[in-house]
Amino acid sequence: MGPGADPKPMSSANARVRSPERYEVIVIGAGLSGLYQLYRLRQLGGSVRLFEAGDGVGGTWYWNRYPGARFDSESWTYGLSFSAELLQEWSWKEHFSAQPETLRYCNYIADKFDLRRDITFNSRVVSAAWDANANAWECGFADGRRARARLLITAIGPLSAPTLPAIPGVGDFRGEAYHTATWPHQEVSFADKRVAVIGTGATGVQTITEVAKSAHHLTVFQRTPNWCAPLHNGPIDAATQARIKASYPEIFARCRESYGCFIHDADPRNALEVAPEEREAFYEKRYGEPGFGIWMGNFRDILIDKAANATITDFMARKIRSRVREPALAEKLIPTNHGFGTRRVPLESGYYEVFNQPNVRLVDLRKTPIERITPNGIVTSNAELEFDMIIYATGFDAITGAFDRIDIRGRGGLRLKEKWAAGPRTYLGLQIAGFPNMLTLVGPHNAATFCNIPRCIEQNVDWVTELLRYMGEKGFTRVEPTEAAEDAWTEHVYESAARLLLLEVDSWMTGVNRNVPGRQKRTFMAYAGGAPKYREKCEEVAANGYDGFMLA
Ligand SMILES: Cc1cc2nc3c(=O)[nH]c(=O)nc-3n(C[C@H](O)[C@H](O)[C@H](O)COP(=O)(O)OP(=O)(O)OC[C@H]3O[C@@H](n4cnc5c(N)ncnc54)[C@H](O)[C@@H]3O)c2cc1C
Repeated sequence: MGPGADPKPMSSANARVRSPERYEVIVIGAGLSGLYQLYRLRQLGGSVRLFEAGDGVGGTWYWNRYPGARFDSESWTYGLSFSAELLQEWSWKEHFSAQPETLRYCNYIADKFDLRRDITFNSRVVSAAWDANANAWECGFADGRRARARLLITAIGPLSAPTLPAIPGVGDFRGEAYHTATWPHQEVSFADKRVAVIGTGATGVQTITEVAKSAHHLTVFQRTPNWCAPLHNGPIDAATQARIKASYPEIFARCRESYGCFIHDADPRNALEVAPEEREAFYEKRYGEPGFGIWMGNFRDILIDKAANATITDFMARKIRSRVREPALAEKLIPTNHGFGTRRVPLESGYYEVFNQPNVRLVDLRKTPIERITPNGIVTSNAELEFDMIIYATGFDAITGAFDRIDIRGRGGLRLKEKWAAGPRTYLGLQIAGFPNMLTLVGPHNAATFCNIPRCIEQNVDWVTELLRYMGEKGFTRVEPTEAAEDAWTEHVYESAARLLLLEVDSWMTGVNRNVPGRQKRTFMAYAGGAPKYREKCEEVAANGYDGFMLA
């Protein structure tokens, strides 16, 4: 079962009647957020239990074992920074670590800090209800167990609720079928197989590049082409490793000051202020550099000014044309409904060259949509294609999906899913009016979505831990934001994004997912004012005695 699979009905009558386990704090999710939160809560004392749906730690890196899965963040900026010892002990092998190494890293953290003894695996939370009389949350698990705690901290992940395409017959296919986010733990071979990949987002691009190396034949089903940029990954040699380890304080200080906590920060110039030849040379330089520099380290106005954006969009289109031999095919791979950077930019390692291979074909779903999946393959509006394997790289019900898959009920039985029906409403992306004592790490309207996420995880967790320490010191047992604070923050979140071109584009960042009912209208999922401003606001709220929160 996948990380966000729909809850199964309770199976054990015995489990249902058993009295709930009791803790002071329950954390849901054993990704990096949950692991670091558990570590920090231990320092406060008190009983803490972390519940995780999977049978191991790592979250994203536990579930997403698909071929080619790896970081877009530089590995040495992604790792947790709280322990100098951990930073010195762990040696990243590549500048952009592949999933197996990152999963080993997560396990290393769990072992080093002896975290497993407070984690219960194979425990999918299907409900969470606030009991005002007891001042406690009661969580229900898929197998009927229950657990209670005064505080509930969700660390359930921004990209942890996978979605299948809304195509008739998805369950009918008789060959091998995989979703990238629930990839099997054993090796999958593509040799001698006719493989279909549906989806060309960041995950699809990584998967396609890898599968094309060994599949007998690969068919890529593309609905929306994306603007992909080269990753330029490479191994970390001994001298570079030593330099990285010696400069962690500077690396993290630099990340701390940048908009998205990446090592890249915007160039202070506007694109159109620069002479065309100089601009071209600048784009060429960024295109040749590793990581998100071309997106996050570009001219400051390319994501807010259409004319500026057109210059980089045109540059990227020319790059695709220069890399794909057949002109008509290149045109199919060039996005026409959004400018560069207004959707998540997939980073690639030879993606466009895959389409020069004789064993690869592209099906443009804008021209010939999929009509249904059959026991033998896929039927489009003009062909019936047979396959041995279908890979769904169809992504996630992002940001709010993992919340929606738990029946969360706050004060007076208020359902979170209903409260958020027209888009999330939160205070600081960390708490929700009507849901006392529930704190949401990396939740919607937090800065974390546009972040090199562990940098924002550390900020979120440290802030929450300080809040709990403060409550303990003052003898408070309940915390909840005021409606007014929530309204003001929600409005501020929308203002923060008002100038961004991405607001005009359907994507998971604007809350649109055509495979999920009720997700067809644009909302806004993330705070877009940047991590430094977000951090300042959180610090100001804490310094003012947790302004906007009701403490009792
Ligand atoms: C393929 C991929 C590549 C990525 N690459 C990058 C990158 O390069 N840089 C970057 O900054 N970010 C990247 N991300 C985002 C990534 O999700 C974050 O970096 C980070 O791992 C989030 O950690 P987390 O602990 O908040 O959530 P997760 O790692 O998603 O962990 C959440 C955990 O909660 C569990 N859970 C959820 N619901 C329940 C429930 N109801 N009951 C019990 N358990 C539950 C899940 O099983 C999961 O283990 C990537 C994401 C994906 C999918």
